[in-house]
Amino acid sequence: TRRASLTSTRTTCGYCGVGCALDVLTRDGDVAAVRPAADGPVNRGHACVKGRFSHGFLRSPERLTRPLLRRRSGLEPVSWGEALDHIARGLRAAVGEAGPDAVAAISSARATNEENYLIQKFMRAVIGTNNVDNCSRLCHSPSAAGLTAAFGLPGGTDGFEDVERADCLLVVGANPVEAHPVVGARLLQQVLKGARLVVVDPRAVGLAGHADVHLRPRPGTNVAVFNGLAHVLLAENLIDEEFLRHRADGLPALAALLDDYAPDRVSTITGVPAPDLVAAARLYGRAERPAIVYGLGVTEHLHGTDGVRTLANLAILRGAVGTERGFGVNPLRGQNNVQGASDMGALPDLLPGYGRVGDPVARARAEQVWGTRLPAHDGLRIAQMFAAARSGDLRVLWVVGEDVCATDPDADRVVEALEACPLVISQDLFLSETARHADVVLPAASWLEKDGTFVNFDRRFQRVRPALAPPGEARTDFAVVHAIAAACGADLGCPTPAAALAECGRVAPVFAGISHQRLDREGAIPWPCPDPGRPGQVKLHRDRFATPDGLAHLAARPYLPPGESADDDYPLILITGRRWAHYNSGNMTRRSGNIRLDAADRLDIHPADAARHGVRDGDRVLVQSRHGRATLPVRVTEELLPGQLFCAFHFPSSRVNALTSGHADTVTSCPEYKVTAVRLRGS
Ligand code: SF4
Repeated sequence: TRRASLTSTRTTCGYCGVGCALDVLTRDGDVAAVRPAADGPVNRGHACVKGRFSHGFLRSPERLTRPLLRRRSGLEPVSWGEALDHIARGLRAAVGEAGPDAVAAISSARATNEENYLIQKFMRAVIGTNNVDNCSRLCHSPSAAGLTAAFGLPGGTDGFEDVERADCLLVVGANPVEAHPVVGARLLQQVLKGARLVVVDPRAVGLAGHADVHLRPRPGTNVAVFNGLAHVLLAENLIDEEFLRHRADGLPALAALLDDYAPDRVSTITGVPAPDLVAAARLYGRAERPAIVYGLGVTEHLHGTDGVRTLANLAILRGAVGTERGFGVNPLRGQNNVQGASDMGALPDLLPGYGRVGDPVARARAEQVWGTRLPAHDGLRIAQMFAAARSGDLRVLWVVGEDVCATDPDADRVVEALEACPLVISQDLFLSETARHADVVLPAASWLEKDGTFVNFDRRFQRVRPALAPPGEARTDFAVVHAIAAACGADLGCPTPAAALAECGRVAPVFAGISHQRLDREGAIPWPCPDPGRPGQVKLHRDRFATPDGLAHLAARPYLPPGESADDDYPLILITGRRWAHYNSGNMTRRSGNIRLDAADRLDIHPADAARHGVRDGDRVLVQSRHGRATLPVRVTEELLPGQLFCAFHFPSSRVNALTSGHADTVTSCPEYKVTAVRLRGS
């Protein structure tokens, strides 16, 4: 028999926020190969081990193929009709008895823009609540808040091709070699071409070995480091006075604050040697075209938004944002569609395009398009949803594509919340930790089985196209939201993803120039793009900043300590993050060939701490925090300083997030994943 010919489908990687364009080759209903697209607008022929090889999960025997409903005996397969009837009855009862705010939804960066748009529309226009949030709450919500306050828009200020022209890279709290490998390789290439490199990270992350200066602050002391760098810029007149006179405000207050951040004092707070701090400031301050690239090591802190603001201060002081003199401040988004999930309004205080729910003008525009009145008060953030569930105020929690029991902090409290909530709906590819606690489990489609768009870390919309059909009765999140709405007697309109994006452009003019048809022709379009006849804006803020007064705003923010510090009871600080071969909860990558590259979570520990605790490579230790416990094998490494530990959370069985705390950014509620005080016991 002749083999069927290969079919090639161009789509966008569903893992990290780089957004590599991939050609997926399929034959006989399976993936034969994944090739990075040579003309991919961001990746230009490159991809990493996740995008290329982590597709084995598609045909995993563990894929959910039928809806499940909780009975006395446990979760049992049912028809879609029965599952949807159960959900609709639960929604009607909750709203009827306790009002629309008794219902909440957690959306996901794994869902397309169109799915996020539809979910938030359902919650607002059909249920009547703003209780919708997405996983950016747990990673880059401080970026959105901090960049908006500084520059007026919640996105990175420059395109990645600009960053590639920088002559000095300040890479802060990010490990792109592992977490964003295509960007990591390109930053390294830039260094090999002669760019100077400053790395700020407690760990010896991949780029640190190539850095001119590597600052290793104690976890939780970023604001002191950034204020110290700003102090040196001011003290040595490495600032752009004309830019500060005409395009920024806040200098007098900042200058007064910075008197307290001389290098010696900063060194005492952070552990960074004063000469290194000065050297780093001079490299950034004397560069012709400096760029800042940062990650979750800046945001996932008690004062994460202050971290973003004080980091942005450096670019403003140098006039290196919104000008040709530099390449601004650019967050590396963790998941593929973190930017897009927020752009689409899956947030409790913001509509699509970032109009505030309390702003009558923004609300009226959405009301006119959706044909209904909308709630005007902010909804619940994710942690508030869990608290409301524990207190009995939340009756329905709908979790789309997130494994909150594995990835959210203080995991034991999350489990308590799910157990207290009368109706929990989980939409997933697998029976995740969250799905195990759900009352209804809906089988979902993966990124390789969907039609829509993602927005990557530099604000580019790109097309997502289905290479395969979902298995069994699994459905896309887009189809599921429509089906739940229909079961509730509602019609959400926009029957196709293309129609949903078109409608979104009417609610949010900043996206009005972007359509599926145009993306099919052009490949990628960055927002803002209000006009279908004009290109989107790669570099932001050229003529004026998007703030109401058109100025960039410096922020005078003092250093404040993290939520937890090492003490006699808990003498070590745990930092959590990612490793190269896996992606977040590992739901997909663990069920692919990547499991052979990395088969378990492990606890990195400095040799001095290992010796003090009498542990060697591979020994299992019990890790205890004030919030929970986990058992992990250790890896002895000098990548960490003494007193610090590092662990990923790709394997839910290790329960790493039982350790992390409920401390969260005071502005956005982003969890403080990067600082947890712990102790070790032999297990
Ligand atoms: Fe590209 Fe990120 Fe996907 Fe790797 S995981 S292929 S870097 S988008």
